[in-house]
Amino acid sequence: MGLCDTGRVSDAPASAELFARALRVIPGGVNSPVRAFRAVGGTPRFMVSGAGAYLTDADGRSYVDLVSSWGPMILGHAHPAVVSAVQRAASSGLSFGTPTLGEIELAEEIIARVNAAASGRTPLEQVRLVNSGTEATMSAIRLARGFTGRHRVVKFAGCYHGHVDALLAAAGSGVVTFGLPDTPGVTGAQTAETIVLPYNDLAAVRECFAEFGADIACVITEAAAGNMGAVAPLPGFNAGLREITAAHGALLVMDEVMTGFRVSAAGWYGLDPVDADLFTFGKVMSGGLPAAAFGGRAEVMAYLAPAGPVYQAGTLSGNPVAVAAGLASLRAADTSVYAALDRNAATIGRLASAALTAAGVAHQLQYAGNLFSVFFASAPVVDFAGAQAAETFRYKPFFHAMLDAGVYLPPSAFEAWFVNAAMDDAAIARIAEALPAAARAAAAAPD
Ligand SMILES: *Cc1c(COP(=O)(O)O)cnc(C)c1O
Repeated sequence: MGLCDTGRVSDAPASAELFARALRVIPGGVNSPVRAFRAVGGTPRFMVSGAGAYLTDADGRSYVDLVSSWGPMILGHAHPAVVSAVQRAASSGLSFGTPTLGEIELAEEIIARVNAAASGRTPLEQVRLVNSGTEATMSAIRLARGFTGRHRVVKFAGCYHGHVDALLAAAGSGVVTFGLPDTPGVTGAQTAETIVLPYNDLAAVRECFAEFGADIACVITEAAAGNMGAVAPLPGFNAGLREITAAHGALLVMDEVMTGFRVSAAGWYGLDPVDADLFTFGKVMSGGLPAAAFGGRAEVMAYLAPAGPVYQAGTLSGNPVAVAAGLASLRAADTSVYAALDRNAATIGRLASAALTAAGVAHQLQYAGNLFSVFFASAPVVDFAGAQAAETFRYKPFFHAMLDAGVYLPPSAFEAWFVNAAMDDAAIARIAEALPAAARAAAAAPD
């Protein structure tokens, strides 16, 4: 099994055929861009099944899965408790467009998990269920604007909050910059009220609030950044955001869509309990079906329709099958699951780092709880500029060597690696065997 830097269709003829067919009817052949392998080249693998730590593609090849559906599958694939909860819910009807018991139970579970880590406080009193993380952040920002009567939003470069128009903004030059549209289709007007700051830079936040504080509705931040690779907030960063926003009457929106209920039973909040005004959740709490949530203090959530004036709605929001999957998933995610996630992340990170060191590749193994990623950089990465300066060209051959050896890494250098609790000794052994050749491929990568 040789190394390759282009991906070889001969290794995946069935996937190649499906991809050609998909390209005819689906833009780029995929329903979410990163799946297309553009960043690493080659043919995206069409998966046909998943069981525990493994995925099987259309060519019958098996992979240890380090994507875990971009986060949700902390229990591994097709977990029996989740599958049977989904089957039970489905056989009782797929959607009613009415309130159901399951929605209450999922809201209670999410609220109980966060508040259990809050030393007697109750930062999360109510949640509203939605269908995707994008909807959660979009709605949280609308609510923050409605609650404060202010228009500006602050976000950080390199933090991703879904494809909300106002948040698809990249920084211009300078420390405090107004967002410029990141993509055609988003207008300057839609990002004009978005201020983009460097991550982990409280001085920039203070400077921004000194100038625009009275107009800022909210600061939205990833509880720990996972969408530029894993970049944890520096100690005191999230607490500093809390302090500055509170001093200026702005809300703090903590986006836990990636970290929530993955890095601990209470999400990032369990590791760094900063009381946000609003939290957003998705991924793990969905159990793998389309579901997400936003929530916070009752006083703020009371502004939401029908209790209050800020409109927000969804035909399939709180869908009974999705809710059943999320609830079963969270109920199965006990302390032993979190211990396994932490253990697997530590083991795999250590193996990756050892292989890269042996191959002489400068790298940073960075953790944000049990989210982690490898930056091909010689100094710790604390912000998006640092992430972009890394030698990302080394990732492509590294990724393909791992893929060839049956390990499915995220097909982009800017993504965290997502472990699941189903990884057994055989899965870890396969990763360990694959890493040395992948590290040598990274070392030999042409610039
Ligand atoms: C994935 C993600 C989102 C968007 O969630 P979707 O369900 O993909 O819309 C928002 N915020 C963060 C931090 C995420 O990781």
